[in-house]
Amino acid sequence: MPPLFEQLNPPRRLLLGPGPSEVSPEVLRVLATPLLGHLDPAFLGIMDEIMEGLRSLFGTRNRMTLPISGTGSAGMETAVSNLVEQGDRVVVGVAGYFGLRIAEMCRRRGAEVVKVEAPWGQPLDEDQMERAVAAGPTRAVAVVHAETSTGVLQPLERIAAAARGAGALLMADTVTSLAGLPLDVDGTGIDASWSASQKCLSAPPGASPVTFSELAMERFRARRSEAPFWYLDLALLGGYWEGTGRVYHHTAPISTFYALHEAIRLALEEGLEARWERHAAAGRALVDGASAIGLEPFVDERWRLPMLITIRVPEGVDEKQVRGRLLDEEAIEIAGGLGPLAGKVWRVGLMGHSARTGNVERLIAGLRRILKR
Ligand SMILES: *Cc1c(COP(=O)(O)O)cnc(C)c1O
Repeated sequence: MPPLFEQLNPPRRLLLGPGPSEVSPEVLRVLATPLLGHLDPAFLGIMDEIMEGLRSLFGTRNRMTLPISGTGSAGMETAVSNLVEQGDRVVVGVAGYFGLRIAEMCRRRGAEVVKVEAPWGQPLDEDQMERAVAAGPTRAVAVVHAETSTGVLQPLERIAAAARGAGALLMADTVTSLAGLPLDVDGTGIDASWSASQKCLSAPPGASPVTFSELAMERFRARRSEAPFWYLDLALLGGYWEGTGRVYHHTAPISTFYALHEAIRLALEEGLEARWERHAAAGRALVDGASAIGLEPFVDERWRLPMLITIRVPEGVDEKQVRGRLLDEEAIEIAGGLGPLAGKVWRVGLMGHSARTGNVERLIAGLRRILKR
């Protein structure tokens, strides 16, 4: 029989979008190593190292720190479904696409969702967040630390203080910030956080690091109703990931966790501060390079993210055509805007292994050439 298709040989691209980011050769190497069983003592040891490594990246001593088998949205769903119940009042900061996603997950859990909205491209108004939290008995406050749809960094300190003062749990999406900019879960007072393997960690998509404080776990154990999703139930996940039992829950995606393990090791070997500085330097280089060819950043410098930069599409330019040509002629991927920013911005990701000034130079040279015509 002639084969239905040829052996896979995907084209080479430079990934400068909002994720997945470039994967380093070291991570690609471990993906090609032989599998272990998911209860093999050698694999359990790898899991322990992943948990300990993730604690360092999140800045936490939380016992319940592990990767969910799924992408970042699975981590988001793990936090929401285990901590939010029918009728709970949840204040959600919405200043972009991912804030909306949290609000939607809370709505589906039957929560009373109080949305505090800000224009896309700006952070949340902290006074408004404080007022919303104080306006009623609040079960949880949820925000996005690094809003990948707009390129805005959300300051967390005042929102964390408001949540703490109200006895509410603080849930923070750190999908794009983890391992790319300063993050201190314990110091800030974050009770639940989720991230993803394919952004600043630079591993393939499929693992979602999460962490839950002791307070969050207490609230989880005191639920009025059963956790709705068997696959994401914190008690069942804990039975596989920690303690003495280590019993089968679901088959861990072995190779995905190998890659995560290596990506965490590389991040810690580089040193978190050096890594944050590398992201900051790449972000500065992009803004400088863009301005040299007449392009402007969309977000004010005060709250601009280094690893996801939105650039205004110049008047009269078809942004989709430019992106198509970048991909076809330069083999570089960047992304367009979402929602109200569709057609108005490009989104350039400089995450993890992608965050290098050489990559920025390649992108600027390509854009210069394409925009000339
Ligand atoms: C990418 C992203 C997500 C969703 O992650 P998936 O891996 O696509 O499921 C959630 N929040 C933010 C801020 C993101 O950037």
